[in-house]
Amino acid sequence: MTSKSDKITMRETLQIHWRAFKDIRRYCPGAFGVSVLYGTAAALSPYVTVYLSARIINELAGARRLEVLGPLAILAVASGALLTFVTGALLRWKTAKEAEFLERKNRLFADKMLSMDFADIDKVETHDLRSQIAQSETWAGFGFYRFWDQFEKVAQGLAGILGAAVLTISLFTLPVPASAGTFTVLNRPAFIALLVLALAFTAALGPLCDNRAMDHLARCAENSRFGNRVFHGFGFLADDKGRGMDIRMYGQQKIARYYMEKESVNGSSALARACRGPIGIWAALGSCASAILTGLIYLFVCVKAWAGAFGVGSVTQYVGAVSALAKNMGVLIEAMGVLRSNVPFMRDIYQFLDIPNQMYQGSLTTEKRSDRQYEVEFQDVSFKYPGSSTWALRHVNIKFRIGRRMAVVGENGSGKTTFIKLLCRLYDPQEGHILLNGIDIRKYNYRDYMALFSVVFQDFQLLAQPLGANVAGAQDYDRTRAEKALIDAGFGERLAAMPAGLDTMLYKEFAEDGVDVSGGEAQKIAIARALYKDAPFIILDEPTAALDPIAEAEIYAKFNDIAGDKTAVYISHRLSSCKFCDEIAVFDHGQVVQRGAHEQLLADETGKYAQLWHAQAQYYTEAPSPVEV
Ligand code: ADP
Repeated sequence: MTSKSDKITMRETLQIHWRAFKDIRRYCPGAFGVSVLYGTAAALSPYVTVYLSARIINELAGARRLEVLGPLAILAVASGALLTFVTGALLRWKTAKEAEFLERKNRLFADKMLSMDFADIDKVETHDLRSQIAQSETWAGFGFYRFWDQFEKVAQGLAGILGAAVLTISLFTLPVPASAGTFTVLNRPAFIALLVLALAFTAALGPLCDNRAMDHLARCAENSRFGNRVFHGFGFLADDKGRGMDIRMYGQQKIARYYMEKESVNGSSALARACRGPIGIWAALGSCASAILTGLIYLFVCVKAWAGAFGVGSVTQYVGAVSALAKNMGVLIEAMGVLRSNVPFMRDIYQFLDIPNQMYQGSLTTEKRSDRQYEVEFQDVSFKYPGSSTWALRHVNIKFRIGRRMAVVGENGSGKTTFIKLLCRLYDPQEGHILLNGIDIRKYNYRDYMALFSVVFQDFQLLAQPLGANVAGAQDYDRTRAEKALIDAGFGERLAAMPAGLDTMLYKEFAEDGVDVSGGEAQKIAIARALYKDAPFIILDEPTAALDPIAEAEIYAKFNDIAGDKTAVYISHRLSSCKFCDEIAVFDHGQVVQRGAHEQLLADETGKYAQLWHAQAQYYTEAPSPVEV
């Protein structure tokens, strides 16, 4: 985060919040309308009561005419009821909008995360920035929420000042009668000007003190960041179902508590010290200034009434109106101060939202071909991960033959997954080109290009959603196709046993009767999802790594049948799983060191393939392979 000591100008405060205003309006239309309406109604409605009460008291203390008192009383009751109703209704509307606002604001960040270059998502700095933004929000609402909240305060302050000014003007203009002697000094313009200045100064003092307290609070954000992260990381450890076993087995709560007490839940933290020190002192001074102001108002109004400038009813009106004027000035000044302290947090937000999206700018649409004649070729491709000095891939030349099976094999760390990541444009190569039907894949519209691939990643993720929705990636889907995909993926028997078939909720996060599936079953669902997508390319990137080699070989061989006319790519560090493929590419230290069919590769006794095959043979020789390929 930009340091608080950086100069924050009024111009920047307005500019950055103007940008936030436009973003909020885009993501949550109506958010400002309702807050302005509520702020204005909340500010103005007390004045109606103040005004009418003053009229009633003046009448009671004066002529006591029933024909005047009656309508005034009815008007006071009716307007009070109506305004309470309107303000209450607006408050409800605003509360509902607030829930929508919080959700939409998160959508803005999620959209950015999803549209960002994958290489940036992978960067620690990106996650650091995003978690800073999230922490500032949860910690004290800084960021978009704080702006929205203060926008209402600005509306409330302005409306309140206007309303109070209307009711207050006569306090200064109504003269004290000449019979009041020395008190006629109260009529002098110079005195009135001085008094207005003194009142304005005292009124501003309270919020200015509060703003200093807020500045100190914002400054603590930077110091509290690590503690907050520790709290987020460790504070909810005991609630995490997946960690239950490890925590019990290794007493991990002791480490968690140690860090929590050291860094986070700590009476000597910077925040705790600031609360006992400057934050507390400034807040107390602010309250003190407000008390002095109230005293001054009472003094002036009562002296003027005593000197005969107006009746007793007007005393309530003026005290009420001047107090409200001061309060609303305070609201406005405080809102401006809060917006100023919100600037560094908004800078963080825009630093994140302005991370350029450079990769996915291609506009070419891919040809829609029912014959699946999509040919992808790696031409002398080399790639290093951002920040890494070693090549993860070096001079890779590979052409996928349409409708054929290709295996990518090699030891762990040889570059197999990186190869797939480049194919899916999660990264772009630093050297060489990847071509689709002869055109660099960077030129294609990213969504169009991705539609050509179904990948089952090693660490695939399913959602706590109905089974069918998981397979189809949508709420509305073709049930027959989803069922077929599950059956093809080997999930048929389990599907028949599912309590609600395709509508069975997976996992228990959102449904008590949700079904927990085993790792192997989850894999089958993930494969079914890839089949449902029905893309021309289907890629299995060792989703079976947790299985034993024989089970993996079975799944891969079965998959060979169901891949049909698609171009299939199999990745594995276990050679036996892929020996049925038309072509096998052997990766070693980021390079393709051998290519060919199984027998052909094995014939080269000195080659990497034969070396790996013999090293792994012990796993497969004990029992005859159940898979004949
Ligand atoms: P394989 O899939 O064959 O096990 P990978 O493609 O995952 O191998 O990794 C190839 C090389 O790239 C390895 O040296 C690995 O350490 C490195 N690597 C993988 N992912 C990253 C990453 N996100 N950042 C930096 N280096 C990485």
